[in-house]
Amino acid sequence: MITQLNHLPEGLLNLSADQLHTKLDNHTLVHLQGKIKRPVFISILQHGDEYTGWDALKDYLNNHQHILPRSLSILFGNVQAARYNVRQLDEQPDFNRSWPSHLKLDCPIATTMHEITDIMKLHKPFASVDIHNNSGRNPHYSGINSLDPQFLNLASLFSDTMIYFTSPYGIQSGAFAQFCPSVTVECGLSGTSDGTEQTHTFLELLLSQSNLIQVPGILEHQKVYKIFATVKIKANIDYSFIQHDHEFILVNDLDFLNFHQIETGEEFGQLNQQLTQQKTMPLVVTDESDNDVTSTYFTIAGNKVVCNKSFVPAMITQNIQAIRHDCLCYIMQPISAPIS
Ligand SMILES: [Zn+2]
Repeated sequence: MITQLNHLPEGLLNLSADQLHTKLDNHTLVHLQGKIKRPVFISILQHGDEYTGWDALKDYLNNHQHILPRSLSILFGNVQAARYNVRQLDEQPDFNRSWPSHLKLDCPIATTMHEITDIMKLHKPFASVDIHNNSGRNPHYSGINSLDPQFLNLASLFSDTMIYFTSPYGIQSGAFAQFCPSVTVECGLSGTSDGTEQTHTFLELLLSQSNLIQVPGILEHQKVYKIFATVKIKANIDYSFIQHDHEFILVNDLDFLNFHQIETGEEFGQLNQQLTQQKTMPLVVTDESDNDVTSTYFTIAGNKVVCNKSFVPAMITQNIQAIRHDCLCYIMQPISAPIS
């Protein structure tokens, strides 16, 4: 059963993300009434160490203590993981891969996410916003699952840089895209003030919109990228970013390549002698239908793993745990989106 509240617990706005667990359970849904009844749904802390969403929302709510311009439904995701400043606890699945999709997941978290989706569908949200942080250096960008103008307008309120993607499955914005304009916003590294300020500004703008069909003047500088593939490191490969005794040494500062068009031949890492001799490709690249497309994008040249094609990488992270849990990066190409 989901805990639903129609007010914030006393003193909540004085707490940091790692203290929320003292007042709330995971997946608490708080409905706050505003002047316009149709709510904006805001999801924060699906990943416990990504707390910019809470910091920005707290600033927003402190600014609007008297009355909100529009109702808000706030989902507090993984406050238990936030307590320890980790993405998720060891026994937990990735919350943002557990939302309803055509993949029918059979686990308690998936049931919970289904319940939340069903509840919110009845509220007919004006828009849905899921707030995240990255572990690597990226511009702040928004992610959408549809090129519908309302989705583009919503995403543009946060950033001119937008990513259009249709996988991974089971993400919150994908589930809500079935019934309202939905966006995932990626606010850079957790806790940085520029990310918090940009997110706060976004909330101010969004909550003051009367519709998302016409938002004047925001589509002029937009850049939309489409994700074509996901890059992972094979599970049996021992890797690191440090020159040491590992099978695969990734290029240090690789995340500087994020959102830059890189050319054929760009190096991603070096193989040790054994893997070089065996010509073992440590990366595995899959497209949106889960086909193996590794050889389209990467090849081995001598002892180096290099790109086989020009593309734009995103979300390259140097966090070893994030690579294991999620992926090394995504492969994108710029696309032209319809201008409304
Ligand atoms: Zn996240």
